[in-house]
Amino acid sequence: MIRFVDVHKSYRVDGKDISALQPFNLDIADGEVFGIIGHSGAGKSTLIRLINLLERPSGGSVLIDEVDLTRLDDRALRDQRRHIGMIFQHFNLLSSQTVAANIAFPLRLAGSHDEEAIASRVAELLERVGLSAHRDKYPSQLSGGQKQRVGIARALANRPSILLCDEATSALDPQTTASVLELLAQINRDLKLTIVLITHEMDVVRRVCDRVAVLDAGRIVEHGSVADVFLHPKHETTRRFVDEALPEEAAGGAALYAHVPGRILRLSFRGEATWSPTLGRVTRETGVDFNILAGRIDRIKDLPYGQLTLAMQGEGTDRALGALRAAGIEVEEMTR
Ligand code: ADP
Repeated sequence: MIRFVDVHKSYRVDGKDISALQPFNLDIADGEVFGIIGHSGAGKSTLIRLINLLERPSGGSVLIDEVDLTRLDDRALRDQRRHIGMIFQHFNLLSSQTVAANIAFPLRLAGSHDEEAIASRVAELLERVGLSAHRDKYPSQLSGGQKQRVGIARALANRPSILLCDEATSALDPQTTASVLELLAQINRDLKLTIVLITHEMDVVRRVCDRVAVLDAGRIVEHGSVADVFLHPKHETTRRFVDEALPEEAAGGAALYAHVPGRILRLSFRGEATWSPTLGRVTRETGVDFNILAGRIDRIKDLPYGQLTLAMQGEGTDRALGALRAAGIEVEEMTR
């Protein structure tokens, strides 16, 4: 659906070209939630703004449903942009307008004059984002989470097929972040629209995204399904994002367990394997002992997964590792 072909982007600053994005190719599929993660200055905002051509690429093509946006005239581009909604970190609401007027704004901008139709569409959108009771309030009377819900309703007004989210939860507390992400996931499910979000938090990616690209200094250093990238990070930058999940271990590495007897193993499992009592069965069958040192059992979007760090002792350890692997558990031995 969204395709970048040999796209790159430089900004001209004081007569010099400063590269923001190195040439890259990327496909984002219809109906998926695609995350772009990177540190500040990595090029995330530039990349997401290429999708609606708020930034023009310095070279290459940006295609949506096979239409090359870079070749459209102003009028055709305006039409294309109606299919793309966007929400922002700081909401960008009109402070002098009510919630309802903010949501109606893009409808009026698109040329709608039918007041009844506008009112009914606004009511429907308010209901979807859970703000029906707040229609006549002004943005200053709303919490951050409610403001972002208005932003989402406004972005959906013209029934876009793509929703771009520019650090949409970065200004919100963790609990509000979770509820806004849940709303985005629900919208993705119900309306089947494609969501592209940029963030500097791996947890945002883990909760809602299907696939992710990791940006580092203007380069996509890794991309793939969130489960693959999260459980098997290859690039150093990805590793650091992922290590937010087991921060103590990331900081100390295997050295943390220098005095722990036995072999130090890191087990990763996902999907159905999460619910099987495999570890118990294998240790019983092989007679090994184990001790859990660190761990996390959680979900990557809807996929259950777990990561456990164990110390294992006993003559049957090699056999136990073989049996764990045979049961679909990934086992990595940490050297120390
Ligand atoms: P991120 O969103 O990951 O923080 P950006 O896309 O904002 O990264 O920026 C990528 C690089 O491009 C940075 O080095 C930034 O300074 C530069 N940059 C971004 N926008 C502009 C601009 N309008 N003019 C000049 N340089 C810019």
